[in-house]
Amino acid sequence: MKYAVIDRGDSLSQSLAQKFHQLAAEKHFVRNDDRPEFVISIGGDGTLLHAFHKYIDRIADVAFIGVHTGHLGFYADWQADEIEELVAMMALEQPRIVRYPLAEIQLETPSETNHYLSLNEFTLKGVDGTLVAQININDEMFEMFRGDGIVISTPSGSTAYNKSVGGAIVHPSIESLQIAEIASINNRVYRTLGSSVMLPQHHHCDIISKKEQKLQLTIDHVSIMRSDISSIRCSVASRKVSFARYRPFTFWNRVREAFLDYDDDRNSGKRS
Ligand code: NAP
Ligand code: MN
Repeated sequence: MKYAVIDRGDSLSQSLAQKFHQLAAEKHFVRNDDRPEFVISIGGDGTLLHAFHKYIDRIADVAFIGVHTGHLGFYADWQADEIEELVAMMALEQPRIVRYPLAEIQLETPSETNHYLSLNEFTLKGVDGTLVAQININDEMFEMFRGDGIVISTPSGSTAYNKSVGGAIVHPSIESLQIAEIASINNRVYRTLGSSVMLPQHHHCDIISKKEQKLQLTIDHVSIMRSDISSIRCSVASRKVSFARYRPFTFWNRVREAFLDYDDDRNSGKRS
């Protein structure tokens, strides 16, 4: 099996990466940074975002495995002290491959069209002032937005930025996009829905810039500033990301453990 490791760069993650390479060599796994079948991300969810974008051109041929060296992650199943167990299972078993939806945008400027994929979300924000944009859903005007910005998240990204702006948490089996507002201004001219909306796979939305404005576009952890964005078209991507699962860890358990933090008295309903 061909594998690559991406680590967060801190000393614990780096030493675990070394340990993984040693154990993997004993099992005769082949390290291949250019064409891996499995990519092991050691660090946090941010590390997995880096790994995803590093291998984005081969996303259909790669399965990710996350090891967390900080708090529990949404994209990580394994803890720092479980590296031996992980390598042993990789040597013994075929994993279950779980596929999560991605978001796609087509960025239009007067001079070019670019496509991007995101695992968590895209955001569009004003830099020198508020963002002023018309939002169309399926080519029909939906609303005129003025405010700090818009978050377009994937289901697995719904627990990240989207959650901070009041969006709903969406199970990754629901192929959809969520459009959430960041501090919209509501008055006679600009009126937005106020709540976030979810689009199914076969719908699209356009965010059309309504004035000359410098905008910040983020694609997961990557940020781009441009003054010439005409519009962005957002949809559920046709490609998906794959995760290799060697043991079950359900999405709702992750949500509960990350955000609710009940102790073992969980069933009693008391908070620790
Ligand atoms: P960061 O500022 O270090 O990350 C922000 C936090 O988001 C970290 O705790 C990160 O976990 C966590 N996170 C990432 N993906 C997640 C997911 N799918 N579900 C739940 N939590 C998640 O930046 P980063 O590590 O490069 O990550 C970039 C992400 O940060 C963006 O995609 C965006 O979702 C998020 N972000 C959130 C806000 C906000 O909530 N106001 C603002 C900007 C960006 P780790 O510590 O495990 O990396
Ligand atoms: Mn981070």
